[in-house]
Amino acid sequence: MSEICISNSPAYEKLPAHRLEYIALRLKIFIRLFGIKNSDWPLDCTKLIRKMKETQIIPFFYGFFRLPDKYEAITDYRSDHNVYLMQINRSRVRYPFETSADRRLNFTLAHEIGHIMLDHLKVPRNLKTKAGIAREEQEADEFAGRLLMPDFMIYTCNFYSLEKAAEYFMVSKTALWIRLNNMNRLDLLTSRKIRSCSCCENMTFSTFAEYCGICGQPIRQGLNGIRKIIYPTVIRMDKYKRVLSCPVCKSENSNFSGERCNRCSTYIFNYCSSYSDSCNSECSFANTGNARFCEMCGKPTYYYEKGLLQPWQEACDYNCVAEEKIVYV
Ligand SMILES: [Zn+2]
Ligand SMILES: [Zn+2]
Ligand SMILES: [Zn+2]
Ligand SMILES: [Zn+2]
Repeated sequence: MSEICISNSPAYEKLPAHRLEYIALRLKIFIRLFGIKNSDWPLDCTKLIRKMKETQIIPFFYGFFRLPDKYEAITDYRSDHNVYLMQINRSRVRYPFETSADRRLNFTLAHEIGHIMLDHLKVPRNLKTKAGIAREEQEADEFAGRLLMPDFMIYTCNFYSLEKAAEYFMVSKTALWIRLNNMNRLDLLTSRKIRSCSCCENMTFSTFAEYCGICGQPIRQGLNGIRKIIYPTVIRMDKYKRVLSCPVCKSENSNFSGERCNRCSTYIFNYCSSYSDSCNSECSFANTGNARFCEMCGKPTYYYEKGLLQPWQEACDYNCVAEEKIVYV
């Protein structure tokens, strides 16, 4: 009664809209059940199945077995114990992933999770038609593609090469190519690259910046980030990089005098934290409203030290990833 998945299943006609909606819904439920946050991508399914086994939110176990070579993994539902069992072919595991071929396992595990979440396994295999089985394989592949390479990640990717992007998503080159093809977005492979910080993937910099204002990494360490992310400007400024209202007491700019807010004496510029208006400062650069680090010297900024900006790792979510339409204007 096993669900046997043969890899490299041939491409069939596209899945109907109602099944794609079902897959999207079940995927959403899976992400919510296991508390997967945006910052958890790229996903490593070897860790994910460990979490599934530990939490038992779904009754689930897995193990490594000697299986015929053509199978990477087999998952079945044991009705006597009400449990899903995933058997992974021991001889096919290369971990940590190094080559494109090693990363196939990540996709296989996501595919097996797909069979569980899409409820393919409770109907015995001998009651299914050949076409029905093929359709389920295709659905599990679609689930895996969306789980490992969600739209919001794909659209914010710099595709320097198929290999580099596939490595980033921890999938094989073939899996990424098929995902782009299913999205009708193979054009992304040759789309314009936007320079972004190789650490936080921020893509906005001041003209003479020496450091990334979001994560503080020196610019010389590279602007070849795989993704392109816009970090939202929480503290709004005018063209002189002066705040529109005091970020602490919210006073209007009519209450400003010189460099400070009259009411609470907060600086109205996001200075480098080494700046002081009373003596010679090492650095007096006024940074943008979302800078956590000084773009000239890399020290924390005044507003970041005051706790007015959250750490960049927490500020990155769906709402601040660069939409394609923003990126290409
Ligand atoms: Zn399968
Ligand atoms: Zn950065
Ligand atoms: Zn104030
Ligand atoms: Zn500075």
